[in-house]
Amino acid sequence: MRKPFIAGNWKMNTDALGGAALAKGIAAATKGIAGESVDVAFFPPFVYLQSVVAAVSSSLIGIGGQDIYFEQKGAFTGEISAAMLKDVGCAYALCGHSERRHVIGESDELINKKVLASISGGLLPVLCVGELIEERKAEKTNEVVERQIRKGLKDVSAEKMEAVTIAYEPVWAIGTGLTATPEQAQEVHVFIRGILAKMYDKNLANSVRIQYGGSANAGNAAVLMSQKDIDGLLVGGASLKVDDFVAMIKAAAV
Ligand code: PEP
Repeated sequence: MRKPFIAGNWKMNTDALGGAALAKGIAAATKGIAGESVDVAFFPPFVYLQSVVAAVSSSLIGIGGQDIYFEQKGAFTGEISAAMLKDVGCAYALCGHSERRHVIGESDELINKKVLASISGGLLPVLCVGELIEERKAEKTNEVVERQIRKGLKDVSAEKMEAVTIAYEPVWAIGTGLTATPEQAQEVHVFIRGILAKMYDKNLANSVRIQYGGSANAGNAAVLMSQKDIDGLLVGGASLKVDDFVAMIKAAAV
């Protein structure tokens, strides 16, 4: 039985007061649900992590970094380590979000180092994978997703996979209002589980949570969550509105 997991990626949005208010509003409205029947996480900008951790301190909502660097410390200007994220109260780290892959130019190899550093640093990585629109049109979705999963999880042992969540986020659906149909998403989630079964085994594949991300909102959350292999949602835009995100958490709770 996989517990639903709804996460909000705030990207480069909010400010100190607005972020804390957003976090508090969602925490208050999901008391008794968040962290109980549904795992909930927020990924605020680094500079607001501490204030958001404080804002949700009386709830069971987890906080994570939108990115992480794989080295432990030293001369890596602008980077943030697993130990730093832990130090300010984070439980999670996003690894390989499509904007990091395609805007910043992160490679599968770098993302794999981030996954490994998250795990060894005691954080729970959310490994994001997904194809570009031209890759989908060229029927390369499976090939791309398989490469991202295999390379992203290189050297992650079966025991360590307990820490990992995978987010399938077709790049063409992120921030575009073009959600994958529940059937399209379900098909790729099943494919991902098949890769995990080949890399590890069937039991492990059935235990890993796979989120869908890409223009998920309050209106489509329930139908996406009703798919057998969709275990949660990674949400961008709709996670910035208390009512919308609360509705999505509640949709996952039923
Ligand atoms: C995301 O940032 O991971 C995302 C899915 O964004 P949106 O929900 O806005 O498409």
